[in-house]
Amino acid sequence: MAVFDHIPMGEEGLKEIYQWLDDWVVKNKGIARKEIIGKFPDQWDIPAIFITNGALPNDDKQIAVITLGRHGQELGTRVVGPEIIRYLCSNEAEKIRETQVVIVVPVVNPEGFVSNEFRSSRTSLTKTERLVLGELFKAFPPDMMMDFHSLGKSAGSKYDRGDMEVIIPANTTRWAMDEQIHQYVAREMQKSAESEGWPYEIHTLEDLAAYYFGDTKIGNMPWTYLKEKVYLLYMQDFYDNYHTPEEDQYTNYTCGPAYLKWHTLVFGMETNHYALSQAGDIGLSGLVPCSALLKMGSTRLPWEKDKGYPANILHGDFRISIRPLGKNASERRASRIRIWNERKNFNLPQREMVDQETTMARVRYFGWDLPMEFALCLRMRQNNITSITVCGKEVQFETFKDNCSTFVHIPIIIEKAGTIELFIKHPHK
Ligand SMILES: [Zn+2]
Repeated sequence: MAVFDHIPMGEEGLKEIYQWLDDWVVKNKGIARKEIIGKFPDQWDIPAIFITNGALPNDDKQIAVITLGRHGQELGTRVVGPEIIRYLCSNEAEKIRETQVVIVVPVVNPEGFVSNEFRSSRTSLTKTERLVLGELFKAFPPDMMMDFHSLGKSAGSKYDRGDMEVIIPANTTRWAMDEQIHQYVAREMQKSAESEGWPYEIHTLEDLAAYYFGDTKIGNMPWTYLKEKVYLLYMQDFYDNYHTPEEDQYTNYTCGPAYLKWHTLVFGMETNHYALSQAGDIGLSGLVPCSALLKMGSTRLPWEKDKGYPANILHGDFRISIRPLGKNASERRASRIRIWNERKNFNLPQREMVDQETTMARVRYFGWDLPMEFALCLRMRQNNITSITVCGKEVQFETFKDNCSTFVHIPIIIEKAGTIELFIKHPHK
């Protein structure tokens, strides 16, 4: 049974959802709390619901942020937010509450909600979004972020209207295997949705060939996809509070800046409020891929050292990578953000199998943020690693496994810009 069996509309509808949120946090004290994170334009509150197990320290937890309802006429998002909040307070989500702080912003754009109009920007985040989300993220830089939209009768891509539901692993880059990692996670979300009977597609920005911009006439080629992909790499203003650049660039999702600033795992979502004619169905179909992703955030993925969202390969690839250090989630997040923002001051780390018993690894840092601390991580086919030396001195390391290999995780401090070489010993079998 879904929380809402109808789509709340107009001012009454907004009040109905806000009342539901208030009642819900009262009923779920100790798990859920509400904070007003801003106003839009000045009469409507923008509430955020924080859900976590308050008895456990936040330092050990992942931070996940889910935004909905940025575009006023996208009706489906209105019922998905409450559905996610209900799920997060259920027994099924106990592990998520123990290991994550989940922040749901059910209606980012209350004015658009009330008027049932877009009331947003096609070319960037709105000023309100930048200020309100910017403040929230300053205190809670997300490890994972999901931004929900909803397609209606006339919305979709230029070649497919009125019916799609889509998972969008976009607003990332190919840096450090990120495209592959986002696809891996999206596929898990899609499998979950399919097992519950909801046919989702996975579309990157290229795949979706310009949602909204494309003309519907056959023969009109999309022309914006390349710009969509590269603008993040080249045109982002790192120094803005929270902004998507270039007034002539379109972005549908709040995710891009979060990826660039904090290496957040980011997904856009499109539910559908036309093909799914029952409000309850929209709520449930929106929830399933979201809960699948939230559950993943409480597990360890095969190439990750710790439980949490897979956002820790910061340079390199699965075989050799630069990763954060830290004894808990909060320290690792801070380390991740620091290294990520220095990523262009590392060379691609290298490895070479010198002989059957020795692997050499080399890493160079040439930035100014010294001493630079990070972990170098190698995927090894040998399961017995006997020693690792740097400049003839043995160093500490940890190992963890996937189902067929061993990862060595070596903490490194670079005091002075330059190159270091490591020798990893593994007996010949
Ligand atoms: Zn939208």
